Amino acid sequence: MDVIPFVNTWPYERLFNDIYLQTCPLCGEENVLTNMKKSDFNRARENIKTNLILPCCNGRLTILEADEDYFWTDKKLRKD
Ligand SMILES: [Zn+2]
Repeated sequence: MDVIPFVNTWPYERLFNDIYLQTCPLCGEENVLTNMKKSDFNRARENIKTNLILPCCNGRLTILEADEDYFWTDKKLRKD
């Protein structure tokens, strides 16, 4: 598998079993509480491809991997 470029990453925050995004990468909404289930989060942490629909804009992130701070997705989210 190819190495995922850093511009494809987006930071998340975890509070108990809730996953937050400080800012939505797609629409810019702030403090987005995602509807990501713990089981989906665990799958992402195991680097299993996981889709996340964002409640703010119905945009979809395809998460390929997740580390402690970032989701690694299949598309460019950051401006470089
Ligand atoms: Zn959004």
